[in-house]
Amino acid sequence: MQPKRQRVVLVGFHIVALLLLTASNSFATDTILVGGKIITLDAQERVAEALAIRDGRIVAVGSDAEVLKLAGDRTEVIKLGGRTVLPGFIEAHVHSIGAARASVAGTYAELSSIAEMQDWIRQRAKELPAGQWIEVPRNEITRLKERRHPTPAELDAATTDHPVLYTSVMKHVLNSAGFRALGIVDANSKLPDGEIVRDEQGRPVLIRGGNQSLRKLMPRPTVTREQTMTALGKLLRRYNEVGITTIYERATDRDGVGMFNELRDQGRLTTRMRATFRFSARTAEGVEKYIKGIGFKPGEGDDWVRAVTMKTTLDGGIHWGTTRLSEPYGDRRIRFYRLTDPNYRGEMYCTPEELKTIFATVNRLGWPMSIHVTGDGGTEAVLDAIAAVAATDPSIKQRRFNLLHTYFPTPAIARRTKELGVGVDTQGYLYYRDAEAMADIYGKSWVERFIGLGEWARAGVPVSVNSDHMIGFDPDHAMNSFNPALMLWIAVARLSDGGHVYGAGQKLSRFDALRAVTLWAAWLSFDEDKLGSLEPGKLADLVVIDRDYLACPVNELREIKVLRTMVGGKTVFQR
Ligand SMILES: [Zn+2]
Repeated sequence: MQPKRQRVVLVGFHIVALLLLTASNSFATDTILVGGKIITLDAQERVAEALAIRDGRIVAVGSDAEVLKLAGDRTEVIKLGGRTVLPGFIEAHVHSIGAARASVAGTYAELSSIAEMQDWIRQRAKELPAGQWIEVPRNEITRLKERRHPTPAELDAATTDHPVLYTSVMKHVLNSAGFRALGIVDANSKLPDGEIVRDEQGRPVLIRGGNQSLRKLMPRPTVTREQTMTALGKLLRRYNEVGITTIYERATDRDGVGMFNELRDQGRLTTRMRATFRFSARTAEGVEKYIKGIGFKPGEGDDWVRAVTMKTTLDGGIHWGTTRLSEPYGDRRIRFYRLTDPNYRGEMYCTPEELKTIFATVNRLGWPMSIHVTGDGGTEAVLDAIAAVAATDPSIKQRRFNLLHTYFPTPAIARRTKELGVGVDTQGYLYYRDAEAMADIYGKSWVERFIGLGEWARAGVPVSVNSDHMIGFDPDHAMNSFNPALMLWIAVARLSDGGHVYGAGQKLSRFDALRAVTLWAAWLSFDEDKLGSLEPGKLADLVVIDRDYLACPVNELREIKVLRTMVGGKTVFQR
């Protein structure tokens, strides 16, 4: 089919059917899905019965009778039996290569309390020879029931035969064997690259810094590229099992893109990938040198693997006490994050002038920019810098910069984001797991804005809800959960894991929640003409699910199971 005809096809179901009917023998379709409830997510929010696929693309959507006319001798007809079909999920923020590597290096477990942590340590202690280090997998204290670091004594209660390390809020706690291994044996012991925090009796409680000393004692296991590739292939299958058909790899390099291309050559690539390249350069020359070194043109690649955006990091995170806020942290936050200065507002790793230089350079070289920025103070600094560049070069507003995370929108921030042509990539699962801690530590007005999906949607900002998946292969219990069903439920219900709704106005409708994991995510990489909805001319990425997305009770949304996932018209997962 010629591209010109595809445009015509967009006009409506009936025209599509007629066009194809006239040439139904030579244009026989590969696959037809019939008898379903197909949520097309087109502009009219139409729900269709049937859909036809040819050469990896959708060629018709309509009634069973219309679409069945397009069947040829070799057409596979899939009977949906009334099941619901959704566009394939676009997961716009993962670190799949890192997660693959981490799966080879060690085990991951989601832990919700100090007691669970102790059980996990006891289990590991049984498996490992005495004296070998045990590192507790990353579980931030915002997500522990106690909302604090364990004490050394609590870690000792799990094992004294192995040195144990637990890290959160960028502070390390060790058991007695751990402190001994680090050479911290009495009140006079010092750490060359860190500070020892002690209790009133002078006993060590935790350490700030000390990363190098720790790494010397517990070197990272070596993981080969081949091992990483094997694990990555498996992880992409896990993504398919929950309906993910496209991922954005949010911090990669030329070799990362190479891995995905190799998987494709080996026939093992089952999700599309959009690459984000992270740099730390702060000058125009540094940024230009980095971009030239990457060797890709903006948007280079194809529908499977494509280079889409650059990335820089402005502030830290809510789990570490480094998010850049518009107000001083104050006593409660200072105590929680074990900081010292109540006037502290969080980190900014670039000056406003550097931000402006970076943005102007990246824009001049034709690239969109994605900015890691979690706090509202940081977000305002980013928007100021984009606006400053736009004053002399308005093309930046068409470049579709992405704010990554930006957890505390206000109506004014959302309005400016829209005006500057910027999109948002944020994490629903953080609301679910961290809202109770935010309510306690940040207070009511902050938690009501936290992951404020409604704020973005009301301003017309394309907002992608995604995972920031980093470690673990279990879709529901990874760090962070990458199950889109859970994200849809969180976006619609806005319930925390403590059972509270903070900021009911931030709930999304079911249609908008679906857009946040499909169409709006596609917009971030200029893919909205190809991905994100089920319309003729688009790539045939879709999922068949086990219940009625539009009619099931809200609490069942999280239970949605994917029965079949198709990418480019091919089934990559079937339950
Ligand atoms: Zn990330």
